[in-house]
Formats: sequence, structure tokens, C-alpha cells
Amino acid sequence: MRNKATTVTCPICNATASYSVNNPHRPFCSERCQLIDLGEWFNEERRIVGGKLAEDGQADTEDAASPGPDIIN
Ligand SMILES: [Zn+2]
Repeated sequence: MRNKATTVTCPICNATASYSVNNPHRPFCSERCQLIDLGEWFNEERRIVGGKLAEDGQADTEDAASPGPDIIN
């Protein structure tokens, strides 16, 4: 009997990881690598979005909110 064993290279540590339902962390080789990847994404998003939202976020909120109350009130 032959299982269709698809393997991928873990993008974090370059280890061979099983890309199947048996590996809940695919395409990563382990939970650790998955968490590392998520952490990197969060850090990047914070850097990009955090800087912009600090100023643009407030301006956008005011602009977007203005028509709302006007119509409702
Ligand atoms: Zn890995």
C-alpha cells in the first residue's frame, strides 16, 4: 500500500515537512516554525500599519464618520 506522501520545505528552518492532513502545521514542519512565521507577520504588519494608522487612522475616522451622523441626525 502506498500513501501519497507530499512533502514541502519548511519556509522557516528548511526542514522537510509533510504536507498532509496529518501535519496540522503545514506547510511548516512544526508548531514552533508556524508560530515563528506568524510572529514575523505580526511584527511586519505592526510596523507598516501601526505607523500609518497613528495619524491617517484618526483623519480617516473623522472623514468617514462625518456623513454618518449628518444623515442619522
Ligand atoms: Zn521548520
